[in-house]
Amino acid sequence: MHKRILVTGAAGFIGANFCHYWSAKYPQSTLVAFDALTYAGDIRNLDDLKDKESFVFRQGNICDEALVEDIMREYSIDTVVHFAAESHVDRSIVSPDAFINTNIIGTYTLLKVAKKLWLDAEDPLPKHRFHHVSTDEVYGTLAANDAAFTEATQYAPNSPYSASKAASDHLVRSYCHTYNLQVTTSNCSNNYGPFHFPEKLIPLVITNILKNKLLPVYGDGKQIRDWLYVEDHCRGIDLVLEKGQTGETYNIGGNNEWTNIEIVELICELTNKRFATDASLRKRYPEAVSAINSKSADLVRFVDDRPGHDRRYAVDATKALKELGYIPQESFATGIEKTISWYLKNPDWWEAHI
Ligand code: NAD
Repeated sequence: MHKRILVTGAAGFIGANFCHYWSAKYPQSTLVAFDALTYAGDIRNLDDLKDKESFVFRQGNICDEALVEDIMREYSIDTVVHFAAESHVDRSIVSPDAFINTNIIGTYTLLKVAKKLWLDAEDPLPKHRFHHVSTDEVYGTLAANDAAFTEATQYAPNSPYSASKAASDHLVRSYCHTYNLQVTTSNCSNNYGPFHFPEKLIPLVITNILKNKLLPVYGDGKQIRDWLYVEDHCRGIDLVLEKGQTGETYNIGGNNEWTNIEIVELICELTNKRFATDASLRKRYPEAVSAINSKSADLVRFVDDRPGHDRRYAVDATKALKELGYIPQESFATGIEKTISWYLKNPDWWEAHI
């Protein structure tokens, strides 16, 4: 039986990558892409899919219960993959309201509708799935020598963003425990790849080099993140949908820890190399620092640290590996090159967001 899937946050970074992944792998499956198109959503991210018969885009807010219900009924949705969220930690520090609304109330609204249609209806749906996409940030921060986060690590969110995601994780869990809604949750490390909004570290650095703008690095730049190519995250979610057990959570990570400053320096080096070996880039990006003097790293500026900045995240994905056969397929060396290539090829996309 082909799934009839509702993807929330489908026009955002990971949601859009997931829609591409899913449509290519399961062309017979009906995919309803749902997104409010906030500043972070870009309908162009789904351009390649819009003519597919099995694909439909609907604009709307996950807090709009009536609309969510209408759409789930109209397309007889049996699977929800829930990406929609406010996702930028800096914004959550300045204005948490949208985070509370979307990440907590929005998730609650989806759960409520799913319960109504899948469990409480006259003709309940015995086989359904609500998959909640969450983050490793719910576990808080690690010291340099601490073991990586496992699914058993106690939640200790430190920002309004991670606290709102933690709250949504708990709601999802409760809907399984209390009502037997068939839920799964994945907690993933930092993603990178195409369609990544240029306020986030990796695309910010690439696009600032191309625009000859400063490269701000928080504090001492020694914060550590575990980076995963976005398609590997999509593959992980696919495996959870296929083999994951109801009520379980799965950590998805890249086993790929880098300090922020190392990432910035690496992107500077790789971009300089591209410009040194491809004369056409100098023509296309004449203002890029890599075109002018290859001294991208001179643009680095250490700025005041983010309040409450978590020092280190690292994910132990052993459970996903053992129970689902999850193994990331992209190496960081190839993933970061693919990502730089994508931004070099798509200036129209990112120029609209800076
Ligand atoms: P994103 O900010 O790029 O995209 C979020 C999308 O959700 C946007 O298209 C936006 O328009 C949409 N949206 C926001 N509020 C909405 C609402 N109320 N109703 C409907 N749509 C709404 O985020 P992302 O990086 O793609 O992250 C997707 C999910 O993955 C989030 O739940 C995030 O917590 C989680 N996650 C992200 C990362 C990462 O590194 N980016 C890592 C782990 C987990």
